[in-house]
Amino acid sequence: MRFQPKASHFIDGQYVESAGGEAIRVLYPATGETIARLHAATPDVVEKALQSAMAAQKEWGAMTGTERGRVLRRAADILRARNYDLSELETHDTGKPIQETLVADVSSGADALEYFGGLAASLTGEYIPLANGDFAYTIPEPLGVCVGIGAWNYPIQIACSKAAPALACGNAMIFKPSETTPLSALKLAEALVEAGAPKGVFNVVQGYGDVGAALVADRRVAKVSLTGSVPTGRKVYAAAAEGMKHVTMELGGKSPLIVFDDADLENSVSGAIIGNFFSSGQVCSNGTRVFVQKRIKTAFLERLSSRLDSAKIGDPMDPEVNFGPLVSERQVEIVKAYIAKGLAEGARLVYGGFQLDRPGFYLQPTVFADVTDKMTIAREEIFGPVMSVLEFETEEEVIARANATEFGLAAGVFTRDLTRAHRVAKGFEAGTCYINTYNLAPVEAPFGGSKLSGVGRENSKLALHHYTEMKTIYVSMNELRAPY
Ligand code: NAD
Repeated sequence: MRFQPKASHFIDGQYVESAGGEAIRVLYPATGETIARLHAATPDVVEKALQSAMAAQKEWGAMTGTERGRVLRRAADILRARNYDLSELETHDTGKPIQETLVADVSSGADALEYFGGLAASLTGEYIPLANGDFAYTIPEPLGVCVGIGAWNYPIQIACSKAAPALACGNAMIFKPSETTPLSALKLAEALVEAGAPKGVFNVVQGYGDVGAALVADRRVAKVSLTGSVPTGRKVYAAAAEGMKHVTMELGGKSPLIVFDDADLENSVSGAIIGNFFSSGQVCSNGTRVFVQKRIKTAFLERLSSRLDSAKIGDPMDPEVNFGPLVSERQVEIVKAYIAKGLAEGARLVYGGFQLDRPGFYLQPTVFADVTDKMTIAREEIFGPVMSVLEFETEEEVIARANATEFGLAAGVFTRDLTRAHRVAKGFEAGTCYINTYNLAPVEAPFGGSKLSGVGRENSKLALHHYTEMKTIYVSMNELRAPY
């Protein structure tokens, strides 16, 4: 098997196996073939990862930010130099078209390493002058050993988004990839060691939810950053609270995308396509509730359908293909059940709706019109290629409806009216908002959710605050007087 790693885990600078651990079979979503066989970590492997991370963190945390930054930037260069091979691996692990993985996955991971590598030396405290010549100063200190837990839709990007700020701040990280896509994080671990990171600064441990839970519960772990669903987020947040640990939660969404009737039609259809069908709809921030103003609804749906006719569905390794399979058979079944619910609850299927009659986990891009706010497909995260189109009349009405959700990850608005665009963006209850575009997440800008969609932010300088703790040192310059 070409994509079989040397062993399941990467700990203390080397591959480690746990032959007795639960089997993890990795499938190529385009064919259903097995491409690798791994084993979940057994308790002794988890222990090994923790001990190695504890020791490595001391060495790494004692290095200067400049030295740590140099290592991260070298790792970024290594990932970029291997972009094709790593993208091919990511395509086999996730099923996403090579056209996407070549430009979006490894490269955004490298961006994170480069960006946080650049910031590492800028981490400083402040001098605070106080009364009578006293003063205080602050030191941003690393938290210690952090745990990263990943989802399966952007495996290497998620690993880098967590590892880069954690390591920049002098922490060590133990990363548990999703059991569905365990392969590329191992390559990141290799690259970091090659770039000069002390062994154990970034360990990869494979497993299902129980391995993640064991890491979260360990008293030696100072912080947990999870990318996953809201139900998992609830469990992980609660477990972390037991030990008063720091958390970052990047969870699910049901984001609104509003198209006003003055918007550029072609751009707004592009926004809806990018916001629903990239990665076969398996993107957390997708704008799956597309609110279209009444006057242009028919034109919007017609243009959308004709644009979808030109989607090239097929073998994700074909560079022309721009729509691949879903990640697993289980995900296909989940999405099919939502499509059936949409039909049963009275939504009008205007595009797709069916599984393709071919090997692999393929579903057509699917569009429902006449969707109402109460329908299940308008309320729950589907995490597949299903767009719901809802009609609206006024700005006030659509803002209220857009916000009537327990999620708050992202939101978008298409309009040519400048003041309305900013007014609507200000009115959104969401962490990441877009005007006349959708689904971009550059490393320079904060990304994350409000309400049930999460806690904390990834990307940007803000992420550094989530991986450091500020120590304050008060210095007296005066004789000390006590009352007795
Ligand atoms: P999931 O919640 O099923 O699993 C996520 C990870 O958590 C996996 O690695 C899993 O093994 C682990 N896990 C499960 N139970 C655990 C427990 N009790 N303790 C510790 N770890 C546990 O999510 P998924 O199906 O892999 O991914 C899809 C979800 O991720 C969607 O809801 C999507 O919106 C979300 N997501 C969010 C973002 C974001 O940035 N906000 C990005 C990508 C995906």
